Amino acid sequence: MRDFIYNGQPSRVVFGAGSLAHLEREIDLLGAKRALVLSTPEQAGLAERVAQRLGARAAGIFPRAVMHVPIETAREARDVARRLGADCAVAIGGGSTTGLGKAIALDSGLPILAIPTTYAGSEMTPIYGITEGGLKKTGRDARVLPRTVIYDPELTLTLPVALSVTSGMNAIAHAAEGLYAQDSNPVMDLMAEEGIRALAQALPAIRQRPDDAGGRAQALYGAWLSGTVLGNVGMALHHKLCHTLGGSFNLPHAEVHTVVLAQAIAFNAAAAPQAMTRIVRALDTRASAAAGLFDLARDNGAPVALREIGMKAADLDRAADIAVGNPYWNPRPFGAAQRDAIRELLQRAYDGVRPD
Ligand code: NAD
Repeated sequence: MRDFIYNGQPSRVVFGAGSLAHLEREIDLLGAKRALVLSTPEQAGLAERVAQRLGARAAGIFPRAVMHVPIETAREARDVARRLGADCAVAIGGGSTTGLGKAIALDSGLPILAIPTTYAGSEMTPIYGITEGGLKKTGRDARVLPRTVIYDPELTLTLPVALSVTSGMNAIAHAAEGLYAQDSNPVMDLMAEEGIRALAQALPAIRQRPDDAGGRAQALYGAWLSGTVLGNVGMALHHKLCHTLGGSFNLPHAEVHTVVLAQAIAFNAAAAPQAMTRIVRALDTRASAAAGLFDLARDNGAPVALREIGMKAADLDRAADIAVGNPYWNPRPFGAAQRDAIRELLQRAYDGVRPD
């Protein structure tokens, strides 16, 4: 048994089909009276319905969340919150909407009630990101951790199958990297393994029966566990690569995670054998952890090659250079000395080669 530090992070989770019905009770428990409801433009109708059900408890809606939280959008939302006298933000949607709530909370301390409708996991983390002048700055601040999270699987029934699968792989990536984190602890290991197991069972079920509430609930449960891992322990090579590819080459978030995960796990396999054992067990596969993750994505119709999702071969060299500059801690180091190995990893990801 290794020595460890475990830091509990305070958030209240309400889980269950139809649990959106508890929204008013949860707003009251926060001591709030005027909620600003946030969403993307695509989910504005949902935000409108939430505001309607809140009645006098709603200050208004701000349906303009977009990917990567541009500072201009954050400022606009902060102004609207101030002008309307909002005393809490209800963020209903995926990571982009939760991210906007966090940008408001960072500035004002406004409590966030998050209602996630994807599996990205941001609702369980004190991590924020804001993009200014083309650069995404990320940081940790306890103020941005949502106080309450309502997980209602019924709200994920509209998530298209393709996005359900890639978003689920995004969640698995948090759990998989959590298993070899430098600051891991036994509780996070349990949650990570169970999160991978839940999602690995849920994704084929959602693909076969998109309207089946059981598969959707299982996936959201896995997303909660995996998001908690992301919020509690440090991430490594996989997240660094995805941050690089998403940030500098504008590739879609969940798809990048889906493609890179198997390759990053293959790179780390020999350096993190216990994590691999847990991943294999959770996937219930006879293949290696990396190959099992590759198969899970491919067999459920997700992209497995960077070239399928908009990456240009000519950019692979630059991506390798950026990734090895300022590297994260990783069980197998990946600084400038490993630049060739990272370039090779990216080539395999580009081509969609199944790892051994
Ligand atoms: P997203 O929030 O950008 O959503 C993608 C699209 O799907 C949007 O148009 C959204 O409106 C739509 N959508 C969401 N749920 C839907 C549903 N149930 N039905 C129909 N459409 C739905 O995507 P995402 O992958 O959830 O989040 C990605 C962003 O979150 C990235 O910017 C990433 O960096 C960030 N993120 C942050 C953290 C963190 O801890 N800070 C963690 C994970 C992700």
